Amino acid sequence: MTFPPIREELRGIEPYGAPQLDVSVQLNVNENPYGPSPAVVADIAESVATAAATLNRYPDREFTDLRAALADYLNRDLDTSASQGITPEQVWAANGSNEVMLQLLQAFGGPGRTALSFAPTYSMYPEYARDAMTGWVVGRRESDFSLDLDAARELILEHRPHVVLLPSPNNPTGTALPPEAVSMLCEAAANDEHCGIVVVDEAYGEFRREGTPSAVEMLPKHRNLVVSRTMSKAFALAGARLGYFAAASEICDAVRVVRLPYHLSAVTQATALAALRHAPELLGRVDDLRRARDETVGWLRDQGLEVADSDANFVLFGTFEDRHAVWQALLDLGVLIRETGPDGWLRVSIGTPEEMKSFKNALSEVMEESK
Ligand code: PMP
Repeated sequence: MTFPPIREELRGIEPYGAPQLDVSVQLNVNENPYGPSPAVVADIAESVATAAATLNRYPDREFTDLRAALADYLNRDLDTSASQGITPEQVWAANGSNEVMLQLLQAFGGPGRTALSFAPTYSMYPEYARDAMTGWVVGRRESDFSLDLDAARELILEHRPHVVLLPSPNNPTGTALPPEAVSMLCEAAANDEHCGIVVVDEAYGEFRREGTPSAVEMLPKHRNLVVSRTMSKAFALAGARLGYFAAASEICDAVRVVRLPYHLSAVTQATALAALRHAPELLGRVDDLRRARDETVGWLRDQGLEVADSDANFVLFGTFEDRHAVWQALLDLGVLIRETGPDGWLRVSIGTPEEMKSFKNALSEVMEESK
């Protein structure tokens, strides 16, 4: 029997994903290294048990309670005396922010439309565009991985993209967008006869350094702005698969058209709601991770390496003539990091103090041997 040929543009393509290897020090997918406490585990387990008793029924398709809890969570960081705050109708969620962004591309991209970003950036973006049959335009970042805002505006005016994808902080470089960038890019994407949406992907938003505001604050000013977040990183809940965005309610309504019915299981909804009740605790190690990040940047620079400034829970460093050899040598010493980003660079996620010590010892050994 012969199978029908796979779509032309998918032929020969390997599925995306970092190696999942069973090594003792895993610093490769930007997870939070601190697992939930017994109290959080107990609350999640109890909530899931309650949901389990109803699993013969489909879950709440509109995940009303979860949308309200996520809106509440976002409003904690906003001055709600100055504006109305974010309402549940302005919040959408899916199985990870990857799914959230694919849904945005399905609703606002499509054949004859384009999505745009600036490289180096998150390698899933062109895949969302491909899977939603959307054209892909990519500009370049500067050598320090910042955006040249004038060039970015020019590129947007030239291509009139329907969707602009901008991570802040960026993966794999850790670079956050300055506050004025979001306004400028939203204005550039919206003009008289054409309005594109600007998705600021804040997957790592909670790790920003002091003084870098969240784009959530700009939502009342820009109706074409979407701020995407996830519970996978700072929130220490990667295994639950819960991403979300805040935007104008019309944008949520457009995404509701393309989502599959009941895409968020009752178990996922119960888990996320229980986790949100423990937000301060789950986010409790963020400051420790930020300090460890800054310390790691300093240490890598002391080794004579080039290191990108980082607002995230990972650090991009290099450059190595043969980065694969360095990655492999670290793995042989039991430390898994990520071979990603521009040629010659490697990315390490911030782990526990013990894990960072193992990373530093291993990298020192590898660099010493290569001298
Ligand atoms: N955006 C960025 C920039 C990321 O790095 C990631 C995960 N690596 C995601 C989105 C997706 O995360 P999740 O689907 O777990 O929410």
